[in-house]
Amino acid sequence: MGDERIFLVDDDITGLAVDAIVNAANNSLLGGGGVDGAIHDAAGPGLLAECRTLQGCATGEAKITGGHQLPARYVIHTVGPVWHGGGKQEPELLAACYRRCFALVAEYGLQTIAIPAISTGVYGFPKEAAAVIAIGEIRRALIDNPQLLKVVLTCFNQGTRQAYEKALKDKP
Ligand code: ADP
Repeated sequence: MGDERIFLVDDDITGLAVDAIVNAANNSLLGGGGVDGAIHDAAGPGLLAECRTLQGCATGEAKITGGHQLPARYVIHTVGPVWHGGGKQEPELLAACYRRCFALVAEYGLQTIAIPAISTGVYGFPKEAAAVIAIGEIRRALIDNPQLLKVVLTCFNQGTRQAYEKALKDKP
């Protein structure tokens, strides 16, 4: 198990002093709306400059940068799928985002991470289905990463919190 290492908070992810925060980015990695815009605003122009060197990111992949002016040491940028009704591999691509993020967690030996509800904002992925995928991948990552002490899930809205609470009630 490992659910005792999963924490739900309602906070703005940009204020969290963790080893890494995850950004729900777009393919360009050059900033956007939602959590992406908030992270770039808080991190300052150094983040954008570093992102420009990365040449974008494919959907379902993840890339890591420094945190710049954020309290977090690193930002892991991942690009979730846009929801097109569920028949375009959206669930697999969302799961891939989490797996690629946790591969970087393992590579960098990170102990604390905060993650927003990837794809559930502008990209329109249904919150409950996204939460089931997220919790499944996080539980797997907690088994594979004994160094990982804390996975903070930022809810930011009541529907997201409820979706995570429901997913956490279902035992693996
Ligand atoms: P996507 O394009 O992947 O759907 P969004 O940024 O639109 O990404 O939304 C992803 C989630 O992040 C949504 O649940 C949204 O409410 C949440 N969110 C937006 N701003 C912040 C923030 N500053 N901190 C944490 N979560 C946020």
